[in-house]
Amino acid sequence: MSAEVTGERSFWGWGYDSEALSGRRLDELAGRVELLVDGESLELTTPPTVDEINLLRPRILPPARLAAWCSVDDRQRAAHTYGKSFRDIVRALERRWERPPDVVAMPPDEAGVTSVLDWANSVGAVVIPYGGGSSVVGGVEAPSDDDRPVISCDLSALDRVLEVDATSRAARIQGGVFGPSLEAQLRPFGLTLRHYPQSFEVSSLGGWLATRSGGHFATLHTHIDDFVESIRAVTPQGVWESRRLPGSGAGPAPDRLMLGSEGIFGVITEAWMRLLDRPRFRASGVARFASFEAGAIGARALVQSGLWPSNCRLLDATEALVTGAGDGGAHLLLVGFESADHPVDAQLARAAALVADHGGSFAVRESAPGSEGDAAERWRSAFLRAPYVRDGLVRLGLINETFETAITWDRFETFVADIRSTTGEALRSVGAWPGLVTCRLTHVYPDGAAPYFTVIAPGRRGDRLEQWATVKAAVMEAIARGGGTVTHHHSVGRDHRPGYDLERPDLFAAQLRAAKRVVDPHAMMNPGVLVDP
Ligand SMILES: Cc1cc2nc3c(=O)[nH]c(=O)nc-3n(C[C@H](O)[C@H](O)[C@H](O)COP(=O)(O)OP(=O)(O)OC[C@H]3O[C@@H](n4cnc5c(N)ncnc54)[C@H](O)[C@@H]3O)c2cc1C
Repeated sequence: MSAEVTGERSFWGWGYDSEALSGRRLDELAGRVELLVDGESLELTTPPTVDEINLLRPRILPPARLAAWCSVDDRQRAAHTYGKSFRDIVRALERRWERPPDVVAMPPDEAGVTSVLDWANSVGAVVIPYGGGSSVVGGVEAPSDDDRPVISCDLSALDRVLEVDATSRAARIQGGVFGPSLEAQLRPFGLTLRHYPQSFEVSSLGGWLATRSGGHFATLHTHIDDFVESIRAVTPQGVWESRRLPGSGAGPAPDRLMLGSEGIFGVITEAWMRLLDRPRFRASGVARFASFEAGAIGARALVQSGLWPSNCRLLDATEALVTGAGDGGAHLLLVGFESADHPVDAQLARAAALVADHGGSFAVRESAPGSEGDAAERWRSAFLRAPYVRDGLVRLGLINETFETAITWDRFETFVADIRSTTGEALRSVGAWPGLVTCRLTHVYPDGAAPYFTVIAPGRRGDRLEQWATVKAAVMEAIARGGGTVTHHHSVGRDHRPGYDLERPDLFAAQLRAAKRVVDPHAMMNPGVLVDP
């Protein structure tokens, strides 16, 4: 995974300013998408500068005892206004900072988090926990129907691995640590969390837990949940901590309430996480399929075989072409195994035979791991650069967004076909056509799969938010109609509330609200995300 990048974080777009696409790389990108805009010239929007941020004055100011690590600076407030969805990037490029937080608090430790919550309580403010701010569902954005002042509580100073229990292979880790720093701190122990969401570079452990993030493993341990031993959080009513246990059958598991809680119960300050030895043995290959559906049947056979490959990602031919993993002539199933303990060539050989039985022509990786010639490697580096490329496409005036879901295998084929055609029709209906709608399977299960769609389409400047809102609404309806989930790993936030409200039982929503009232009686923690308090 990418090394730790340092430098200034972008306040309007993805990642770090130093990594953003510029000059020749932007020209190349424009050349690649020219076909999509039908001869119209691609005009590049200049990113906003700090001088162009003009926010309303903060409605509250931090008390003297917190002032050293609180900011009311425009740049900080703008940077914490949105997450990193297409919609967020467009609004920032349009210099629209709607509902910025009044104050950005950056507590240096857990006691500081408690102080922020106490202060917020005393002034009747809302607190929004903020990890890396990589939410793509409006999860870190202030509510539009709540007039209370807003404090964004940025956890990035809580960035240390505090304790390693090498015997049990677990570590106590602070909630604000970003992926690269976390892995760098574990490396001297020969250990790793191996949780690599695409947002790894600028997303945090607390954010992963609060959103039930999906990571590296395409089968078996797909979500962060599987690696949690215990969680510690600060709520408005005090500290909440579950016990470290390897497995407990004692009633409903407390951690399950905190996982996916999206900041509505409190701030996750620490967690004991189960770790892995760093893998030493790897084997991988790629299978070519004549159709995406045939590839899905191959992936299904693999995930139902009990082989549990770490990588089992199916890319449709267009996705393979766009990411450089393939030539667009075939649908690709990337398969990989890894182990710290034993060679995995036998597993790969069995996987190859299984996939071949289902019509895939399988090639063991044709060049050295990590080299340019390898499809999995090419796909992986495109995967990590994708958010920077997305910002470039948005600056060029395009619509570029992703959405994802999960569905059982019995409904898979018709479901994916319906979503593809619904997305295409909706793009046409808003004049955003011709466009690309690509699909890959990010995670696969014995009983179903998680299809992930990417849209690249021409947009009308000044109108793209409305265009995308129409498309997204049609897609959400198709997902609900087909029986899929509103999200496999992007979480609920504010944007997915309508779909989530349809999906979860009403009585469960009542239970959630009741649980919230116990720890957050004044509904100050991220109100409106997940449930209406
Ligand atoms: C380009 C891109 C790629 C992505 N790829 C993936 C992917 O592969 N897999 C995946 O799962 N997601 C992905 N995401 C979505 C996002 O990165 C995840 O939801 C991630 O887990 C959010 O982590 P964060 O630290 O950035 O949280 P934030 O965005 O800061 O917050 C997300 C939510 O969690 C809450 N929260 C954050 N920290 C805490 C805390 N310490 N305590 C309590 N609540 C907290 C916030 O209030 C908010 O509701 C991607 C996003 C982008 C922009």
